[in-house]
Amino acid sequence: MKTLIIGGTGITDLDVLENQKSETVRSPYGGAVIFTGTYLGLETGFLMRHGQYHENLAPQVSYQANIWAARELGFTRILGTSAVASLRSDIKVGDLVLLDQLVDLTHGRGSSFFSGSVKMTEPFCSQMRTIILATAIQEHIFMHPTATYVCFNGPRYETAAEIRLFQNWGMDVIGMTNATEATLCREAGLCYSTIALVTNMGAGLSQEGPDLLRHRQVTQENLPKLKQLTFASLQALTQQELCFCCS
Ligand SMILES: [Zn+2]
Repeated sequence: MKTLIIGGTGITDLDVLENQKSETVRSPYGGAVIFTGTYLGLETGFLMRHGQYHENLAPQVSYQANIWAARELGFTRILGTSAVASLRSDIKVGDLVLLDQLVDLTHGRGSSFFSGSVKMTEPFCSQMRTIILATAIQEHIFMHPTATYVCFNGPRYETAAEIRLFQNWGMDVIGMTNATEATLCREAGLCYSTIALVTNMGAGLSQEGPDLLRHRQVTQENLPKLKQLTFASLQALTQQELCFCCS
């Protein structure tokens, strides 16, 4: 059972991967590059969601090509990492959050492989979430155990009024990518979970507005704990049997 890590804004490489090689997978939805290798003897891989040079903004990413490539190379679990903005004062910049629910506001992007309906009551793999949470406790890394994620289409950032609306809806964090990945993984029969890093407060909630450079700066500052949790989870995940997501 192989786990693929998807890096978003900020995480641009998996420098700990041994025997690393780049594999390009062609699909009906375009090509995707996955770096495969081993970590402590475990077969794993890394994919840069936005492309090798961060050339694709959120609505332009070929999520279908990415998830297709993961399945094609035999990955059964996908651990996404993402930058999000917080909508709650108790979820602070630099905090880690484990997503458990989502609202999808995206449009006009390829967010399905077929014309069928998959069950999305629990959009993230509950087995992966349990393992990641237990790992965080073991590693003494603070993480918010649940968060409802609203997936905004972008590429522009939200207005202050939109952020107030999402707060009134009871949303906790906001981003632009994870709902699409979660849907495609469920369709493809892959387990999927996301560890999100809060890189800013939602528009209008603080003096600092959303900004790509600021995203990257906060990500760099918090990269050690994000990587520590990701790699420790990777080890724990491979010891588990697959769950219902694959059925
Ligand atoms: Zn699962």
